[in-house]
Amino acid sequence: MKVSVNSFCPCGSKKKYKKCCKIYHNGSNPSTALELMKSRYSAFIVGDYKYIIKTTHKENIDYTGDLKSWKESILDFSNNSEFKKLEIIDFTKEDKVSYVTFKAIILQNNKDISFIEKSKFYKVNNTWLYHSGEFLNE
Ligand SMILES: [Zn+2]
Repeated sequence: MKVSVNSFCPCGSKKKYKKCCKIYHNGSNPSTALELMKSRYSAFIVGDYKYIIKTTHKENIDYTGDLKSWKESILDFSNNSEFKKLEIIDFTKEDKVSYVTFKAIILQNNKDISFIEKSKFYKVNNTWLYHSGEFLNE
């Protein structure tokens, strides 16, 4: 989905995209795992697969050296999903590991595929990375 830099950020912050997640997509380092999580959500919406790949921990289940197929699966999810809303449920913050629990409201072909996930993030060389996610029931 194309998002104008002057429109509201897709993460739901009520800030302009260019003053919110776009800063991270352009190369700045999120200082918290929560900012990283939101900017990854926005990256899925705008189709910034490079950002998704860059911010994924090597131990993540989706991590692969096959960048071509990884890119395709990210863009496939991005192009075929209607991202309705992101709700942050919980955020626990420590020095090297953080958890963000969120609900993503997403439609695919008018089918509700919304989910609640507890995401785990590790700080590696001063950079937050998405490590893994656990699906929770509502
Ligand atoms: Zn944002």
